[in-house]
Amino acid sequence: MTGKKDNLDIKIMGFESIDSDKYDRQKRIAGWDQSKVSNATVMVIGVGATGNELVKNLTLTGIGKFIIIDYDIIEKSNLNRCVLFNMENDIEGKYKVDIVKESIRTLNPDVEIVVYKKELNDIDKNLYKQSNVICSCVDNIEARLEANNYAHYYGIPFIDSGIDEHFGSIQAVYSEVKDAPCLQCGISDKDLDLMWKKFSCTGQEIDSENGETTRKIATIISTTSIIGGIQSQQVIKFILNLDHFKENGKWDSQIGEPLIGKQLNYNGLTNKFNIIEKLKDPNCWTCSYKKSNS
Ligand SMILES: [Zn+2]
Repeated sequence: MTGKKDNLDIKIMGFESIDSDKYDRQKRIAGWDQSKVSNATVMVIGVGATGNELVKNLTLTGIGKFIIIDYDIIEKSNLNRCVLFNMENDIEGKYKVDIVKESIRTLNPDVEIVVYKKELNDIDKNLYKQSNVICSCVDNIEARLEANNYAHYYGIPFIDSGIDEHFGSIQAVYSEVKDAPCLQCGISDKDLDLMWKKFSCTGQEIDSENGETTRKIATIISTTSIIGGIQSQQVIKFILNLDHFKENGKWDSQIGEPLIGKQLNYNGLTNKFNIIEKLKDPNCWTCSYKKSNS
């Protein structure tokens, strides 16, 4: 596509300078501000298959800093869908966060990374406040709700993702949007029953009583890359558009509105996406207190 904008760029920049800037093509997107991206800090909870895709995308986009939390080690069954784990052959048994950190440095040395080999409830809560956006890419409700709780409390955008076979979902939470539900609002009693079950990135369910593996969840990289891609797009929307929202009470249409209060579902079997409007629970113990006092 050519037009006035392209002609103007050529006159001002020249061909050489256009291609010497690795972020040039994304800077051409209307509403883009690379300085916002390069100064942003994103917390990523869980760097399994979806987390790999999310981190890879944001790394290449030139995000300023990652705070990455994951205590899992790499197993061979991770390697069919985790792009950041394939940099060398003998990575089995190493911490996921350590290998992700090495891969990020190779992909884009501009990006700063700090990693924590801890369970989420063991981290310093100040890490939440240091983040511009928080993302969960985990397979257990307990960690999701913990991140939701702190993100809501500190007023930081939170984006949750989930996958299962050919299906995936994304939901964003931002407590500064009036009457927007949080993740807790949509949690059913059945979900709460599952809260104490944890699933590793290898798809193995871990019994919280004795740590024994009882079953595996099927996943495929085509699903995780789609969901991780959409999640990274949501992160960019918040980073580029949050100032505009705070100043004007609405989102700049050039960048678009994040999925706040909505759940985007992907169905790889029917080739369809749909978006469900989530309802706020007036009795939600996470978000009803703050809203009723604001
Ligand atoms: Zn809620």
